[in-house]
Amino acid sequence: MNARPKKSFGQHFLHEKRYIERIVSAVSPKPDDFVVEIGPGEGALTLPLLAAAGKLTAIELDTDLIPDLIARAASVGELSIIHSDVLKVDFTALAHRHGVERLRIAGNLPYYISSPILFHCVEHAAAIQDMHFMLQKEVVDRMAAEPGSKVYGRLSVMLQLACRVEPLFTVPPGAFRPPPKVDSAVVRLIPLLPEQRHDADPARVHAVVKAAFAQRRKTLGNALRQLMDSDAIKTADVDPKARAETLAPEDFVRLAKVLPNS
Ligand code: SAM
Repeated sequence: MNARPKKSFGQHFLHEKRYIERIVSAVSPKPDDFVVEIGPGEGALTLPLLAAAGKLTAIELDTDLIPDLIARAASVGELSIIHSDVLKVDFTALAHRHGVERLRIAGNLPYYISSPILFHCVEHAAAIQDMHFMLQKEVVDRMAAEPGSKVYGRLSVMLQLACRVEPLFTVPPGAFRPPPKVDSAVVRLIPLLPEQRHDADPARVHAVVKAAFAQRRKTLGNALRQLMDSDAIKTADVDPKARAETLAPEDFVRLAKVLPNS
């Protein structure tokens, strides 16, 4: 099918075969895997992933694309479609419902909500084995950035506290119909195992990271003023004169642990 791509749904359909093959080979689905695709669109990734896994669950918001997808998948494997906004899908409940321990998630994401999708997946990280996503290259750079880098920020810290972030390869605009205005990149995210995860309250970590990067040019003493004083920052073994962009993800966890009760 060649539907007219809808801008409002962030539709940029992948058509270049070599990139489709590289993504499928990066995911490398096995017959026993429970694979979930976000935004199957016209099925560029769906059909080859389905062929490899035998079954696949796809989450699509655009009703118009669904009948054709079902028809094309019929001879390939068992496709089940969840017609929903992905942000409303409870991945943990989905895994439980199907009696699987962890899902494998993949998708060429709608760029207009790429960060909310990433944060949503992080919330369900314990129910996810891995994720392979196509995103704007600039977002992948931010996700993988290290302390000291200009693009290191809230997204880098929150993702790196939950997952191993592995940028894989870049994809040029011409690989899509219509071409997006920016370069894209594929990234692999592997959620940390329970023993590798931090034990601070996620809401507190989020509050500290958000405040620290809201004013990234300021010292932490200033940026966190509403949340804690300099003495509390020092008890976390962090210099109140430092700036957020120089702190490692674990430093924010220690700050969250000494955050006074509000
Ligand atoms: N996977 C296809 C491909 O690679 O050609 C399509 C990718 S396109 C960039 C993004 C897809 O996500 C579209 O099919 C779009 O309709 C769907 N989509 C947009 N917003 C969504 C949402 N909130 N929840 C689920 N799917 C969404």
